[in-house]
Amino acid sequence: MTNQYLTPEAKKNIDLADKYGAHNYHPLQVVITKGEAEWVWDIDGKKYLDMLSAYSAVNQGHCHPKMQETLLAQGQRLTLSSRAFHNDQMGPWLEQLTSLCKMDKALPMNTGAEAVETAIKIARKWGYLVKGVPRHKAEIIVCDHNFHGRTTTIVSFSSEPQYKDDFGPYCGGFRAIPFGDAQALEKAITPNTVGFLFEPIQGEAGIMVPPVGYLEQISAICKKHNILCMADEIQTGLGRTGKLFAYQYENCQPDLLILGKALGGSYYPISAVVGYNSVMDLLKPGDHGSTFGGNSLACALSRTALKIIQDEKLPEKAFELGKKFRESLADLPKHVVKEVRGKGLLNAIEIQPNAGHGRFFSEQLQARGLLAKETHDVTIRFAPPLVMKEDSLNFAISVIKEVFAKTQTEWQ
Ligand code: PLP
Repeated sequence: MTNQYLTPEAKKNIDLADKYGAHNYHPLQVVITKGEAEWVWDIDGKKYLDMLSAYSAVNQGHCHPKMQETLLAQGQRLTLSSRAFHNDQMGPWLEQLTSLCKMDKALPMNTGAEAVETAIKIARKWGYLVKGVPRHKAEIIVCDHNFHGRTTTIVSFSSEPQYKDDFGPYCGGFRAIPFGDAQALEKAITPNTVGFLFEPIQGEAGIMVPPVGYLEQISAICKKHNILCMADEIQTGLGRTGKLFAYQYENCQPDLLILGKALGGSYYPISAVVGYNSVMDLLKPGDHGSTFGGNSLACALSRTALKIIQDEKLPEKAFELGKKFRESLADLPKHVVKEVRGKGLLNAIEIQPNAGHGRFFSEQLQARGLLAKETHDVTIRFAPPLVMKEDSLNFAISVIKEVFAKTQTEWQ
């Protein structure tokens, strides 16, 4: 789909973004102006089912009425006062979040990448002060094909050339092992290892689900070797995979839980690192901070966002709808689709190597009123708002069946 099919209004907006914005994304040619639950509308009034949810940040659905209420009420009272003072929203939010996570303390930040950076700092400090690792020698083990954000430290341990090649020099202290291989973790641990940072399901890599038993094994290995088990649930957490947290599929107990995206109910960026006193209490005033971290507006919105997840039983909904989604798509033609995989409402369709480009299939879906996006060209991710109705899921299934009935060449 090129600009020639766009209405003048849509084209005007896209041209402005192209002319005045850096081209660090390659968005579909659609200009969204309105959202409600699992649906969005473009500038010309066309309605689409949102099957991306801003990369899993819209679990509670677009413009949830309770989020609107909180935004207005808190927005009229207090939004930001900084951590130089206390505010009346952060304490209750911390209590709610830590009790949901069954952990002791949380540290608020803004974006996912910042929360990952925070977890790295906490793990290193724990390594030096508690484990006795010589200063500046701490190592953190990560997985190949990880995605933890875009800061210079985080891209230093990315295995994706485009994310890192032009952005060195790199930050040391990381060692990568294959994802899904618990033995590789045990082999890679040295006396200087302070933590293992992982995604329970790798999202950006293409919804890669590890073998059954992996989460339990890595948790046990971390415990045995006295290293911190650091679960990045920024994309998988808060109901997305059919459990509150994806690690709960197995007997796995992270020491640090990293959250973001849906924590703000799609209204406000808020992220957090959650952990136990034995680790979190190592942070002293001045060790770490953020002007916006823990602000009243973010905390008020997050309190409502968390309440919606619990009140509306979103993990349970995601579990049931996700099961139906995968079962309904099990018979897609094998010469087009290599695999349908995922957990809950975090799913992917992997296209056969010669069956066409992800971008082509995303555009076909868009033309039929379904917004989804390719990741790494061969995989399309499907991650709708968890509040979606079953009828909307049925609509998605019928559109996907139609679009993946043929290869790109057969379509053209
Ligand atoms: N970690 C994971 C697993 C993610 O999926 C993402 C974003 O997609 C991040 C970290 C980075 O979050 P943010 O874009 O809010 O910095």
